[in-house]
Amino acid sequence: MDKVLIIRYGEVALKGLNKSYFENKLMKHIGSNLREIGKTNIWKSNGLLFASMDGFEEKEFVEKVIKVFGIVSVSIAYSFEVDMEKIYQVALEHITEKMEQRKFKTFKIETRRGDKSFNLTSPEISSKVGGYILRNLEELTVDVHNPDFKLYVDIREKCYIYSDKISGYGGLPLGTNGKALLLLSGGIDSPVAGWMMAKRGVEIEAVHYHSYPFTSERAKEKVVELARILAKYCGNIRLHSINLLPIQKEINEKCPEGEMTILSRRFMMKIAEKIAKNRDCSALITGENIGQVASQTMEGLTVTHDAVELLTFRPLIALDKVDIIELAKKIDTFDTSILPFEDCCTVFLPKRPLTKPRVDRIRESESKLESEKLIEDALLNMTVEHITFN
Ligand code: ATP
Ligand code: MG
Repeated sequence: MDKVLIIRYGEVALKGLNKSYFENKLMKHIGSNLREIGKTNIWKSNGLLFASMDGFEEKEFVEKVIKVFGIVSVSIAYSFEVDMEKIYQVALEHITEKMEQRKFKTFKIETRRGDKSFNLTSPEISSKVGGYILRNLEELTVDVHNPDFKLYVDIREKCYIYSDKISGYGGLPLGTNGKALLLLSGGIDSPVAGWMMAKRGVEIEAVHYHSYPFTSERAKEKVVELARILAKYCGNIRLHSINLLPIQKEINEKCPEGEMTILSRRFMMKIAEKIAKNRDCSALITGENIGQVASQTMEGLTVTHDAVELLTFRPLIALDKVDIIELAKKIDTFDTSILPFEDCCTVFLPKRPLTKPRVDRIRESESKLESEKLIEDALLNMTVEHITFN
């Protein structure tokens, strides 16, 4: 008897003609997420994917697979040659094992029969297996409407028996919706923003701005660590690092104090736009959120976005902070995000940042700076790292 993981995908299946393209992407991502712990067999059969779990530690295996976007749920199943006697025996063993883990009184057998050549219909199989369980486990009764426990029998080229379904994140397989550049700070929001877009099939590259030596090596390490956590979901991430300090110094010297934050943000966007164009990224992603901080008023967002033409995704725009934090915990970036290292934005933090900046005024301030040259120099000094998840 083999142990396999049954992998269900949702939205992907709706894509009609593209179905096998999506399935193949999913299979590739599952394989590469598992590579760290070993090589396994992955195959498709009639709207489901299967991965052989023999020789693997269950929990670790499931954790790796479940991080693949596009997966709706998985179940650990026993698989064996189609044979009624064997079905009885495995069903009984499985239910007995589950009864040791949790209490239940009622059950239901649900059979699906992909292989119609088998000589019994699905209801016949369910009722025979149910009868066998009732005879062997007298404390149980059948409840077909609202059972405490459901046992699934799936008959295809082989027979699969399983019970629990473990939820995945849904979404679409990575790389099925183009590529975008994430502005990745060391904060709570931007990693979540990147994760949300990746979940929709968007491949991710990242750019981080620091103010070295005003910001430390450890602040930089924190961002690398965040990228590494994201890479567990998003595959390898190309992380660009830009020193913003020369630009911040110029702004500090030549522009009104209150405009520091908004002007820095415009430079971040402009530099990101250049990197994106070079790297074939069709959009930018930020962790901005309406009303969260002084620079994220409607006016602030308008002026920030005015700096670029490129499509910009702000997937957190309408989420509450508590919900963003909950997501950050779920995807495991939260503990790293709250490490207390300085961010480049805090280096020249104005005492009173503008909350209602105006595009014309900010453009005028910006005209006092040699923007093109500053951006060019920043890009010349850019460093690039390839972040992998292991
Ligand atoms: P976060 O928690 O993501 O830092 P935030 O709520 O602190 O967001 P801001 O500091 O105003 O908000 O930044 C808004 C967005 O700008 C961030 O979500 C991120 O996408 C981008 N950003 C800010 N600082 C940096 C940085 N140092 N490097 C790269 N991107 C940044
Ligand atoms: Mg921030």
